[in-house]
Amino acid sequence: AAASTVLHVNGIEVIYNHVILVLKGVSLKVPEGGIVALLGGNGAGKTTTLRAVSNLLAGERGAVTKGSIELCGERIEALSPSELVKRGLVQVMEGRHCFAHLTIEENLMTGAYTRTDGKAAVATTLEKVYSYFPRLKTRRTSQAAYTSGGEQQMCAIGRALMANPRTVLLDEPSMGLAPQIVDEVFGIVKDLNEKERVTFLLAEQNTAMALRYADYGYILENGRVVMDGEAKSLRENADVKEFYLGMG
Ligand code: ATP
Repeated sequence: AAASTVLHVNGIEVIYNHVILVLKGVSLKVPEGGIVALLGGNGAGKTTTLRAVSNLLAGERGAVTKGSIELCGERIEALSPSELVKRGLVQVMEGRHCFAHLTIEENLMTGAYTRTDGKAAVATTLEKVYSYFPRLKTRRTSQAAYTSGGEQQMCAIGRALMANPRTVLLDEPSMGLAPQIVDEVFGIVKDLNEKERVTFLLAEQNTAMALRYADYGYILENGRVVMDGEAKSLRENADVKEFYLGMG
């Protein structure tokens, strides 16, 4: 049977500061257990789409003015970010945002703040996170400020996983990282997807890398989805090759 749809973004329009129309009717679907890539250049609207889903637009003076967003068939536009975390949806922000003065382990523990299932359950999740990110275990007592960019990205993902999410929105995980580290991070994402069935919606400018790991992709241009398809068919598409994979 086809996987059910976890996340359904349906024709959303987003306006910043009451006047700047940034998303002009974006629709996408994320199936349960999938890895979906949201692709496009700088300023195409990827971050805005993720912020709309996790209800983080208000802080940016942005608002969804049209369309709807459903998580497992229920409308979520009116739910607070923390309510969304409780429902299993977390976002890993662009630029990592680890707390520089906290240790890696303290950073990870901040991700468990919405948990109500007790310390033992949280400790089990922490061990699970360490099993996927052995580098974080090695660096558990290091202050985040003194860890590498790759370790900070892993810490940001690990912290999101501490909430025990079913769906993770991952904003530009490759940003500022060496290709080998990007591969390592994406490899872990794939592992989490396959072994824990965590669903991912991944915003990426690194089209080649994202399409290597995702099952399906949407390409955004100027606030609109201009193309979507299976990752394999996008990789072979002439326009994608020319404009996004630098193979023209
Ligand atoms: P990037 O990779 O640079 O993050 P993106 O595809 O994620 O690109 P967005 O960050 O969603 O793009 O930005 C889409 C458009 O919205 C851009 O034109 C940007 O300048 C504008 N924008 C983003 N945030 C705000 C804001 N807080 N106020 C006004 N305009 C904004």
